[in-house]
This record gives sequence, C-alpha cells and structure tokens, in this order.
Amino acid sequence: MKTEAKTGGPAGGALRVNGERLWESLMEMARIGATGRGGVCRLALTEEDRGAREQFRAWCAQEHCEISIDRIGNLFARRRGRDSAGPPVVLGSHLDSQPTGGKFDGAYGVLAGLEVVRRLNELDIATQAPLEVAVWTNEEGARFAPAMLGSGTFAGVFDLDEALGRADAEGTSVRAALDRIGYAGPAEVGGRPFGAHLELHIEQGPVLEQESATIGVVTGVQGIRWYDLELEGAEAHAGPTPMHLRRDPVPIAAKALKAVFEIATGRGPAARATVGQISSEPSSRNTVPRRVRASVDFRHPEATVLDAMETELRSLSWNLGGGGVRAELSRIWASDPVSFDPRCVAAVREAADRLGHRHLDLVSGAGHDSVYLSRVAPTAMIFVPCEGGISHNEAENARREDLAAGADVLLNAALDLAEVER
Ligand SMILES: [Zn+2]
Repeated sequence: MKTEAKTGGPAGGALRVNGERLWESLMEMARIGATGRGGVCRLALTEEDRGAREQFRAWCAQEHCEISIDRIGNLFARRRGRDSAGPPVVLGSHLDSQPTGGKFDGAYGVLAGLEVVRRLNELDIATQAPLEVAVWTNEEGARFAPAMLGSGTFAGVFDLDEALGRADAEGTSVRAALDRIGYAGPAEVGGRPFGAHLELHIEQGPVLEQESATIGVVTGVQGIRWYDLELEGAEAHAGPTPMHLRRDPVPIAAKALKAVFEIATGRGPAARATVGQISSEPSSRNTVPRRVRASVDFRHPEATVLDAMETELRSLSWNLGGGGVRAELSRIWASDPVSFDPRCVAAVREAADRLGHRHLDLVSGAGHDSVYLSRVAPTAMIFVPCEGGISHNEAENARREDLAAGADVLLNAALDLAEVER
C-alpha cells in the first residue's frame, strides 16, 4: 500500500550522518563471510556471525557504549542518556544472512544505528533517553527455524527454552551454538521497556525505485495466510476415457486458480495472491491425474480484507466439488497484519520531510524483527531503495547516497523520539 510520493521542505535544523563512514563500515562488515560473487554467507551463530558481532562490538567500544548480551544472544550497545534509568530508543536489525545473501540486508540497520551513535558523539549531542543499537539473533531463519527467533523471544512470542532447543540441519541446538561462539549472555530476555524501536532496512522490493522515492515510511507489515487446496478425482487412461466420463481434477484446478487471482486483483494493489506450488499425482503424461494440489499465499495489510478473501476462497472450494471430484481447502498458517506506532511513523515521516527526501508510505511485504518488537514497543521502520528490488541474493545492491539518506532519517527520527534538548 502506498500513497503519492511527497517531497519535503528544506533541511532546516536537520542533522546528517557521515555517509562515507557508514559505507566504509558496511564494506568492512561485508568482508566477514564474503562470498565469491560479492555477497555474504553469515549464518546465525556461526564463526562468521561471531566475527561480525566482534567487529560491531569493537566499533561500539570506540564509542564508549556499554554492551549487554541476553540469554538468546541478542546484543545491545547502549549510549547513555540524561535520564539513564528511562526506557531507551532502540535502533535494531540483524547481522546474520541468508546462505547466499547480500551486504545490506540487516547489516545496514545495525551499522546505521552505530553511525547515529558516532555522529552524536562527535557532535557532543546528549539525548534525554538512552540510545541502544540492537543486533537481533537469527533473523533470517536460514540456519535455525523459525525466523526472527531473537526478537520473537524478546517479545515473548517464543518460549526461551524452546527457542534455545531449536536445532539446525546438523542437530546443533541454538543453546550449543551460542555457547560455542561465546554469545550465551547473562541478561534476561525481554521484560524491559523500550521508548521506541526503529529499524532501517533496504526495501527488498521494487516500489521505491519504480516511484523514484528515497525513503519508505513503513506504516506496517502485511498479514499472510497460507492454504492448501486439494482436488481429488480418479485416474484414467488418456486415450480410451471420453471426456464426459472422467473425474478429472485438472479442469477444476484451472478454474480454481483463475479465481484465486481474481480474489486478489479485485481488491486493489495492496492485495497479493501467489500460487507457488502445484503438483499432480501420479504425474504421468498419459494419465488423467487422481489428485491436484496447489498452495495459496494471500497477503494484505488489513485483517478484515484477509477475512473476506478467505471467505471467498472457501465458498469457491465448496462450489468446486461435484462431478466426481472432491475439493478440500485447509488453512495451514497465518500471520496477522501489523500496524506500526503512529508516533514513531510520524517521527520518520517528519524527519524525511525535514531532510527534503521524496518519501512514500509503504507496507512491508517481508517479515522483520520489528514485527515482533511492535508487540512490546512503539515501533516503526524506514526503507531505502535497493537495486532492482533484489535481495536475499549476492547481487543485492544499494546506492551510497540512498543509504546515507536513510541513516539521516534514522538519526533525526531517533533524536525526536529520544527528546533531544536542542
Ligand atoms: Zn533483514
């Protein structure tokens, strides 16, 4: 979902980060777990993840930040505020990557948070609330399922013991992996308030680039629902069986899939339908199949619209039966839509305006740590364009000036929320 791109006014009173320093830190971080094709492989809680965390901590030590690590390895670097007991404004994202990931997914949000701290230190600006830069454990879910394990445990969505017991493909648990890299911290997981959580991230989609906007003001995250559609008929020989005597699930599947897309396209650009898996049994060229299965993925930012899409899908599947073909639809997973905190979203939008950047309101189509953090803290996200919308790919790329612009917005929104005395 997006609105018309807006261009803000002149950059009166807005501070800026050192974009060149941010870029250099990103490139230095990208050497840890670097792949041959310019990407990174830094799976959660591996030696590479440890290396990235150590590098981040070394930089934070230069900025006199206080480090704390919780029992699931979430890492927090704290810059004092005038009110050191008050809830911090947290700038967080992740340092783990996909097996063939890019240089910017996650690392950008963490290192931009560090750049905010560096800039405030060099300008000697004090904030009322403390600032923390957070590194959330296992965001990608590539080594340990589910994704967003550290932030989800922090937010109380996952039980700590269950999370520590999750195992990778080799049978190594999160607990054992944390011990091995020295990141099983002593701090309790969660249970402390944040004044705000801001996450800066590359868009991982094509909209900002298409609309020539520099900043995505992320107002929330799409809800997702997954279904399995199964149609069962009877096998028959492709030659001797006349069409009218077949119990063929394929023509019914064709009708159903057309309708699945109509359910989405009839509901505006914010609605998405994806059929990513289609299979037939016995999957033989000259046999009418016995069974056809298709997956359906529906997305929309509003639960009421998802409800309506689901109702339509269900009535469709009831109407599909007959003619000797049985139709069955089951919902197998759902993730509720998220609306970010209006005050945090406004702080991002105002910062983009003050800096004079073209910005768009967007709803994130991908999951992020902020989805879970929004359950326990006022939260918002900032997106910047990435080349061709490509992410989870070694070719992932973003422009230096856009990365600097996003960090400028992060800096000014954070100052606003941390109630700087200027
Ligand atoms: Zn990410």
